[in-house]
Formats: sequence, structure tokens, C-alpha cells
Amino acid sequence: MKELHYAAWKQESCDDGPGVRSVLFLQGCSKGCLGCHNAKTHDAGAGYSASVLELVQQAEMMCENKRITISGGEPLEQMEGLHSLVALLKDEGFEICVYTGWSIEQVPASLLQMIDYIKAGPFIASLRDTTLQYVGSSNQRMFRCVCGNLTEIPIGDASYTVSCA
Ligand code: SF4
Repeated sequence: MKELHYAAWKQESCDDGPGVRSVLFLQGCSKGCLGCHNAKTHDAGAGYSASVLELVQQAEMMCENKRITISGGEPLEQMEGLHSLVALLKDEGFEICVYTGWSIEQVPASLLQMIDYIKAGPFIASLRDTTLQYVGSSNQRMFRCVCGNLTEIPIGDASYTVSCA
């Protein structure tokens, strides 16, 4: 059974994709964006490890509404395990969002085929904008994915927001 390194879970987030979501932060990122808000996730040898099956069981407990965001760190640096995790979560009926620092062109079609949303692009400190939904800097892009077909979400579109109140 494949293993993944992860840093933490966060529940009831309103900032990590559309709606109220639970977030699984995977461990390890070699990108080194200046001003990264999650530097403790960079060391691939730190954090915890768990099998894909164990993480699905954790997701069942953490995500009552079955909306999960897989963030990091850089989830795509654990591509094989990420694929397995996403495939199992999809089988279990989760709505899946992935946050990556890779550009959308670098994301494998096989992954896009299985997920519902993706935020793509590195954090660029000089483009930081706290008024935008779901992203840290204005160069980053958010997409809805349906069977691998992408529709870009205009960042700031209030129709994609679900209140946490
Ligand atoms: S890709 Fe994400 S986790 Fe990695 S350095 Fe950039 S902002 Fe930080």
C-alpha cells in the first residue's frame, strides 16, 4: 500500500477552495517561493507518514461534508501516492480540490480527470493580494474540473463562496 507524507489536517476552512472544506496538508515542497506562508511543510523528511488507505479513513472522520482540499507543501511532489489517494477518495464520493504551486500546464491529465477543483501556480510575494478568494497572489489560477475539462473560475466571483457563518 502506498504511503504519503503529510503535515496536518485543518477542518472547516473557508479559504481553501469553494465552500467549507477540510484540508489535508501534504509534507514536502522544493519550490522555495519567497514569502511562503507554510514553510514548515517544506522538509520532505518531516511530518507524519500514513498509507493511502489510512488517509482515506482519516478523511472520512475529518470531512463530514465530503469536501476535501489536498494542499501542502507540494502535493504533486508525491505524485504516485497522490494519484492513489485521489482515486480512492473519488470512489468514496468526495469532492476533491488540489492546491499546487505547479502551473496548470504541468499537471497531469490523469489527475485532472479525477478532481473537481484545482488552484495552480506558485506564490509570488510581489503579487500578494489578500482580497482575492482562494489564492495568495494574483498570478495563481483556480479551475473547476469536470471529467478533465477545465473552466477557469474568475477569482473573486462571489457565487463560488459558501459562508462559514
Ligand atoms: S509551492 Fe506552496 S508550499 Fe511550496 S514554497 Fe511555494 S507557496 Fe510554499
